[in-house]
Amino acid sequence: MKIHEYQGKEILRRYGVTVPLGVVCRSIEEVSHLAPTIMGPPWVVKAQIHAGGRGKGGGVKVVSSLEDVHRAADEMLGMMLVTHQTSPDGQQVRWVLIEEGVAIESEMYLGIVIDRVSQRVVIIGSAQGGMDIESVAASTPEHIHRLPVDPSAGVDDGNVAWLSKKMGIPPDLQHEAAELISSVYEAFWESDASLVEINPLIVTKDQRLIALDAKFNFDDSALFRQPDIAALRDLDEENQDEVDASAHGLNYIALDGSIGCLVNGAGLAMATMDIIKFYGGEPANFLDVGGGATTEQVTEAFKLMLRNESLRAILVNIFGGIMRCDVVAKGLVSAAREVNLDVPLVVRLEGTNVERGREILAESDIEIIPAATMAEAAEKVVAAAG
Ligand code: GDP
Ligand code: MN
Repeated sequence: MKIHEYQGKEILRRYGVTVPLGVVCRSIEEVSHLAPTIMGPPWVVKAQIHAGGRGKGGGVKVVSSLEDVHRAADEMLGMMLVTHQTSPDGQQVRWVLIEEGVAIESEMYLGIVIDRVSQRVVIIGSAQGGMDIESVAASTPEHIHRLPVDPSAGVDDGNVAWLSKKMGIPPDLQHEAAELISSVYEAFWESDASLVEINPLIVTKDQRLIALDAKFNFDDSALFRQPDIAALRDLDEENQDEVDASAHGLNYIALDGSIGCLVNGAGLAMATMDIIKFYGGEPANFLDVGGGATTEQVTEAFKLMLRNESLRAILVNIFGGIMRCDVVAKGLVSAAREVNLDVPLVVRLEGTNVERGREILAESDIEIIPAATMAEAAEKVVAAAG
């Protein structure tokens, strides 16, 4: 799950990290009321969307009068902001953050990620802040400094001091920077984040250390024990199909192809997409209905797939382990009936009570193309999709 910059900054503030004072507004009336409470000039007006690169896309404006704050906010609210991280259509701006502007002396990068190779949380620092860190990593990898953290010991003071030096923090601020890095690590750890990025972390002309931007991603699987974090979710920023899917306990990701896949288990879903491609087709989605899919979930899964205008055929590939094939078959039949399926449906069932399951499908009034193996199912669905 992602959150907005202003929400990330509230978390950082709670951990003692200095962030600019600001107000978040969702209408121009709110801007008129709240902007005068913020010290300036200068002021900074920042579009709040779940994507970075806003500066280059016109989503960050540094201005020197309250009239210009008003004008910039008015332009941003409602606009489709296009950055290298949004879709080509952009993302609609529903919130703007208005902050006291600061005079920047230097911009640095601080990130915390989970590194799968070392299986550790890794703190990343660079003196090259304020720009796209991926391009820094590609063109000048020597400017990226990594500090893996031992999860049982936490951050080590000496290591953090090493990192803050590498980031080019001035000697007078190194002690403070080390504390800041430890605090950000604590915020990351305690909130079950999967990524924190402060780009830029800045030193001001008057030698203060400030987090000027804040990006947090969280581990969805941990949200059940993070009610305060879960409450920060902004559904307007998320893909509608994926939101609906998660509300029904389905793992759904939209793809570009024409063959819908309904599968139980993520591994089997991946293998199903692979074999569709092997036989020359293109999957329209990834969809894992989970280990104990109910009729209601299967119905929702069909509805989701059918919203896609590129859909030409559906492949259902279910392995009945804990789930029994006869139960799955009943669910499939009632779901297919409810949604008025108008594309060919190939079904491959295997596992517990499979004979009874196949009988139920054969006896039903739904037109089903049965398949016994994955290869046969893939070949048939690719042919059916044309
Ligand atoms: P992003 O482009 O979405 O990552 O948005 P950022 O919050 O990182 O802002 C982009 C850039 O705007 C920063 O790197 C700064 O150079 C600039 N910026 C943001 N706030 C201020 C400020 O208070 N004063 C000045 N001078 N520049 C700012
Ligand atoms: Mn940034």
